[in-house]
Amino acid sequence: MAETIIPKATAKRLPVYYRYLNFLANSGTTKISSTELSDAVKVDSATIRRDFSYFGALGKRGYGYDVVDLLNFFKKILNQDRLTNVGLVGVGNLGHALLNYNFRQANNIRISAGFDINPELAGTIQSGVPIYPMDEMIKQIKDQQIEIVILTVPIDAAQHITDDLVKAGIKGIMNFTPIRISVPSYVRVQNVDLATELQTLIYFLEHYGPTLKEPEA
Ligand code: ATP
Repeated sequence: MAETIIPKATAKRLPVYYRYLNFLANSGTTKISSTELSDAVKVDSATIRRDFSYFGALGKRGYGYDVVDLLNFFKKILNQDRLTNVGLVGVGNLGHALLNYNFRQANNIRISAGFDINPELAGTIQSGVPIYPMDEMIKQIKDQQIEIVILTVPIDAAQHITDDLVKAGIKGIMNFTPIRISVPSYVRVQNVDLATELQTLIYFLEHYGPTLKEPEA
């Protein structure tokens, strides 16, 4: 399939569409209109049509979308056919929680290796995932062809571990530490700062109150 350049906001909604279409397919639903899809995923139908238009005309007027066609299509785009092995560095409270969670609702992603400096953790298996010492990190990442790493280490360790991850050939880092790590331009970083997100929510609630929503049908 030719590479389609799509806006970031559209790319973020694809897994949402995918998850719902998967649910529909499993429950035997064969077609869905953009309005029905819109109600289910809480994205307005004009946006859905625009999102889908980036991939060519997928819907038929007056018919809607064929669930299985659409699902197969998204599967390819999202690489759901291919299992992505993810590494995790820093098996502390957050790291443990993520290992335990292990993205079970997305059957194409799994954390396959953990790394930690703590000798009591290295060499053990936590939530079914082997934990390796730091001096094996670069080798394991290369051997297991891990391209994505979740970073849940203390702030002061984040940059030098990032440098090693880059040396190991990592392509993407999900950074749970509150600092901005520096990477070369060919490495992508997704920052997830849970404390800031929560503080932002509190700020909005304190200053603007909850958003007024229409009651759900
Ligand atoms: P969290 O921040 O996830 O709640 P925590 O409070 O339990 O974790 P932290 O001190 O933040 O602990 O450390 C997180 C994990 O990172 C720990 O398991 C710790 O052993 C590990 N860690 C600390 N320094 C390094 C390092 N330089 N390399 C690899 N792992 C490290």
